[in-house]
Amino acid sequence: MNEFLNSEITYLKGVGETRAKILQTELGIRTFEDLLMYFPFRYEDRSKFSMIKDVVPDAGPYQIKGRILSKNMIGFQRNSRLSAIFSDGKEETELVWFKGVQWLNKSLKTNEEVVLYGKANSFNGKLNFPHPEIISLEEAKKNSGLYAIYSLTERMRKSRIDSKSIRGMMSNLLDHEKLDIPEILPSWILEKYKLLSRAEAFRQVHRPNSTKQSIAARQRFKFEELFFLQFPFIHQRINRSQAKEGLVFEKNMPLFQEFIEQHIPFDLTGAQTRVLQEIKTDLCSGKQMNRLLQGDVGSGKTIVAFLSMLMAIDSGYQCSLMAPTEILASQHYIGLKQLAEKQNIPIALLTGSTSAAERKEIHRLLKLGEIKILIGTHALIEDKVQIPKQGLVVIDEQHRFGVAQRAKLQAKGGKDPHVLVMTATPIPRTLAMSVYGDLDYSVIDELPKGRKTIKTVHRFGFARPKVWEFIRSAVDAGKQAYIVYPLIEESDNFNYKDLNNGYDELLKAFPRPKYQVDMLHGQMNSEDKEAVMKRFKDKGCQILVSTTVIEVGIDVPNASIMVIESAEKFGLSQLHQLRGRVGRGADQSYCILMSSKKLSENAEIRLKAMVKRSSGFELSEIDMQLRGFGDISGTRQSGLDQLKLASLSEDRDIALAARTSLEHLFTEDPELKLPQQQGLRRYLEHRNGFEEWSKIA
Ligand code: ADP
Ligand code: MG
Repeated sequence: MNEFLNSEITYLKGVGETRAKILQTELGIRTFEDLLMYFPFRYEDRSKFSMIKDVVPDAGPYQIKGRILSKNMIGFQRNSRLSAIFSDGKEETELVWFKGVQWLNKSLKTNEEVVLYGKANSFNGKLNFPHPEIISLEEAKKNSGLYAIYSLTERMRKSRIDSKSIRGMMSNLLDHEKLDIPEILPSWILEKYKLLSRAEAFRQVHRPNSTKQSIAARQRFKFEELFFLQFPFIHQRINRSQAKEGLVFEKNMPLFQEFIEQHIPFDLTGAQTRVLQEIKTDLCSGKQMNRLLQGDVGSGKTIVAFLSMLMAIDSGYQCSLMAPTEILASQHYIGLKQLAEKQNIPIALLTGSTSAAERKEIHRLLKLGEIKILIGTHALIEDKVQIPKQGLVVIDEQHRFGVAQRAKLQAKGGKDPHVLVMTATPIPRTLAMSVYGDLDYSVIDELPKGRKTIKTVHRFGFARPKVWEFIRSAVDAGKQAYIVYPLIEESDNFNYKDLNNGYDELLKAFPRPKYQVDMLHGQMNSEDKEAVMKRFKDKGCQILVSTTVIEVGIDVPNASIMVIESAEKFGLSQLHQLRGRVGRGADQSYCILMSSKKLSENAEIRLKAMVKRSSGFELSEIDMQLRGFGDISGTRQSGLDQLKLASLSEDRDIALAARTSLEHLFTEDPELKLPQQQGLRRYLEHRNGFEEWSKIA
């Protein structure tokens, strides 16, 4: 690799042993390249100069050209300060320092042209500048007026490493006589996306000529980060998709067509239509589809799944849909049955609580190919279940299943069926790429028309009577409400005290027969659960007191109020999922987060984020900042925690551009053999070895 960039930081002018050690322990900076990769977090605009006569105390900061005429140490040892007289050629003013004075006394030179930068105080009616920054005019001339500001740790400050000294080190590097920064991205990528070269980007990020150039430099590095982040996953996916043959569905799709023309209950959104087109292309392409469909809660993934199933049935195949909970499976069954009935398509539900006799009959009909759509839970992957003409497998709420379960369901039929996995887990697009590296990716990034943003508020316990008053007026107007209590592990033999107490209180506040309040939790038997859900759906119950069993998938558009008790105990993604149970119709919906007064710092950030933000993408980013990436399976090695400049939610366009170039790169030159790819190849080999890079996922 490049020797210059790989040189140890101690060899840089202005660094030395002590500073090198601090840079290494505090920031992990070991080489010239590491230092260059330490990006400023903002710039200070110092393009304007003032005269002393213009200076107003407690305003500024000001930048003034001039000379230090004299300096003077006052006091003894610990109490000493350094005072200096500074002149701009017309007037004079006093500069004072209280810290680091011995060193300053040595390094500040009198009668040299310098630039002062700082704020002024008024002391006994006289101006002075406490702790101004002084740089030589020569140094200032190298700078266009935008000064990089770097983040510093306490230890760095103590050792007098500040933004000024880091700028100095950067200057020494960028002006180094042996400076050699090779390009690592192929030039066709630079040209296509109008990116600065790496060398120029380093210059413009640390010592920008203009704001515009500093932005261009950041764009270049964001691209670089997102390019290398996605590199291994896309490499792997392209290799895989070239390998596997799939069932070829017929382009002529009469059932699908008829459904779209005659039975569909609403207009599809643009995003739904686009995703269906992507799926259709896959299904007819001859290669096996492995597609992740991501869409925020309520974006309408179910109908997309159903329409995809029709495409399979049109070619004579069977389909299965696996959901993570019984409640969700039976809800899908009820919903999809209504749709399937319009075209007399046989559909069945198979869960752990299906009776033995029923189960046997379902097995038989499946084998005969008579059941076209099979919906269920994990029960679907039992060995007995055989789906000989399985053409499409849909997995809802993918994050609840492992890869092994997915594979098992896939293996039910003869040949490899197409696979559509759906998730509302609002993982950012690029993260999705990383976690589900082997999958193609579709996103529904648009909610059905007429949806209103859910109004979210945070209330403390003492406001509960008011909250109930609010629920009462909504319920009296025909609306329905959920009240959710935290029970993190449904399967544990958990103490249901909170839930039961809450239920009792609500029964008192909303007495029968005027109101019907029901309770739902995971330990109830499935018949009871189903009955409760059905009554709620049919509006026979106005208030459903529940645990998080309702977290995923439940769809009752008339429910418009979600109260989450002890909201501080939930994680952000769970809160977002729960909130997603309302706002599914055209009415204004509300989410009320109840918490105790005492909140941890993290909990407060979470609740504030919920109140302020409605997008699952944004919330997931905040969530990851709070929890780190390690919690999301498969992300640890993905390098996401190494993003310095790029933000997964804000830089989606750049991520997409990086991804497109990678796809192009691997299709054209999977082994990186072409001459234009050698810079990249050398870089990868230096960092990890190209082989390693392609294996990480
Ligand atoms: P999710 O993506 O969370 O699984 P669902 O598929 O449950 O969302 O859809 C949420 C609700 O929106 C359902 O009641 C569904 O019938 C409705 N819906 C879906 N697509 C549309 C659309 N294009 N226009 C209007 N309503 C829609
Ligand atoms: Mg759903």
